[in-house]
Amino acid sequence: VRIIDENRDAAPYSRALGVQARTLEYYQQAGIAQRAVDGGIQSTAVNFSTGGKRRAHVPIGVVGEGLTRYPYVLDYAQNDHERMLIDELHALGVHVERSTELASFEQDASAVHATVKHAGGSAETIVAAYIAGCDGARSVVRETLKIGFPGGTYTHLFYVADVLATGSAVNGEVHVDLEESDLLAVFGMRGDGHVRLVGTIQQGARKENDITFNDVAHDVIRRMKITVRKVDWFSTYRVHHRVAERFSEGRAFLLGDAAHIHSPVGAQGMNTGIGDAINLAWKLADVLKGGVQTSRLHTYSVERMAFARRLVRTTDAVFTFASNPGPVAAFARKRLMPIAANVTRLRSFRRFLFRTVSQLGIHYRMSALSRGRAGSIHGGDRLPWIERATSDGHDNFAVLASLRWQVHVYGRAIPQLAQRCTELTLPLYEFAWSPSMRRAGFQRDAAYLVRPDGYVALAVSSKHGVELLNAYAMEFLNR
Ligand SMILES: Cc1cc2nc3c(=O)[nH]c(=O)nc-3n(C[C@H](O)[C@H](O)[C@H](O)COP(=O)(O)OP(=O)(O)OC[C@H]3O[C@@H](n4cnc5c(N)ncnc54)[C@H](O)[C@@H]3O)c2cc1C
Repeated sequence: VRIIDENRDAAPYSRALGVQARTLEYYQQAGIAQRAVDGGIQSTAVNFSTGGKRRAHVPIGVVGEGLTRYPYVLDYAQNDHERMLIDELHALGVHVERSTELASFEQDASAVHATVKHAGGSAETIVAAYIAGCDGARSVVRETLKIGFPGGTYTHLFYVADVLATGSAVNGEVHVDLEESDLLAVFGMRGDGHVRLVGTIQQGARKENDITFNDVAHDVIRRMKITVRKVDWFSTYRVHHRVAERFSEGRAFLLGDAAHIHSPVGAQGMNTGIGDAINLAWKLADVLKGGVQTSRLHTYSVERMAFARRLVRTTDAVFTFASNPGPVAAFARKRLMPIAANVTRLRSFRRFLFRTVSQLGIHYRMSALSRGRAGSIHGGDRLPWIERATSDGHDNFAVLASLRWQVHVYGRAIPQLAQRCTELTLPLYEFAWSPSMRRAGFQRDAAYLVRPDGYVALAVSSKHGVELLNAYAMEFLNR
């Protein structure tokens, strides 16, 4: 694999802060979750106010307890995060080739021919089996494929500022203040007194590029009652909501912001891009190394587009509610906020919200790769997490570290299934039955064929397990 980036250096700015539980679960599989957790801080509560007056305090510290090993939202600055990933890649012998720009590419039935430009102006043609366009909102890969990027741009101008500050809102919690047409939020960052401010700007007569932190400082101080000592980074930006018409064509794929962009509500953007990469990576490996049919790759678009479309619709609705200008919208927000906050005090609602925001709720039931149902778990669902699944206290995700197709049985596997798994070279893991497994939705003794990304491909009762596993292996696993 070759990874090229036109930038000379990694971006030094924090950008995405929120890392969701599902991303950390993928990192657990890759053995790098602890590095991320150690590099960030956990958000403990969200406070809502209108016009500087506090309306609600919602604790979110361990809201997803029992659902995942990472039951919180982690704040981990994107520049530190990217550095960590680049280091880990380096350890695996993959180096990001910098100052190397993709100029154009063509593809035929057997390969991709990409022309790249190096810093000194020299050009090189790279011949590759596939090209993954992770090249951001202005993606050259997307434009070369002439794939439309329909959607729109919100009218608000936003700013982001990473600052060193003091005051009651500098306490590691999230603070969101809504006014008539303004939105202001404070997020905790690693390091004493470091916070992220995100807000909307009344642009007035000033040009976008001339706006500085001084233009918003008064508003921040008034509403959040904080004193800013130093501004580490200030930037303005416009928010778009767009989803590419297709996520792949032939041997080329779109991932991350190249495929979907939306408002920063819920800290989903970067996490969704990482989810895209995980989804595509194991499928490419199966095709290139496992000899499975290339039709496997079509499921990338089906699985990830469905989620991206839903995400853009949801973030759009929440964002429009939070930022709609005018006194009627402001009145609705003021009235609805305490009611919404009361609802979020309900444990069941908080858990529903956590499943959604953490991306644990993403499923691929609609995919051609998903089959069957056992207990309440369907083919295409994320494998539910069981905290102490083995006698030595490991969770059931520990075995996903192999990044291989595998079969799980919660209870006892029938001998014929064990025998068939051996013949198919599919590792079989049996976990002694416990009540927590029923609560998580498992059916005792049923067989769950798990994909390398931790999603259930096939869920079958023990009676039909062998037969259906055989059929699945023949159809999809080249075995
Ligand atoms: C202020 C802010 C806050 C955010 N907060 C969150 C958050 O809390 N949680 C979250 O999940 N998301 C958040 N996001 C969104 C997140 O930052 C993006 O979704 C994420 O950076 C997208 O990653 P990407 O790799 O797809 O694209 P990018 O980060 O845009 O990276 C694209 C890369 O491709 C390279 N490139 C582009 N064109 C070429 C070319 N022709 N040849 C070679 N290289 C090329 C670029 O140099 C760049 O390195 C936030 C964004 C902003 C701006």
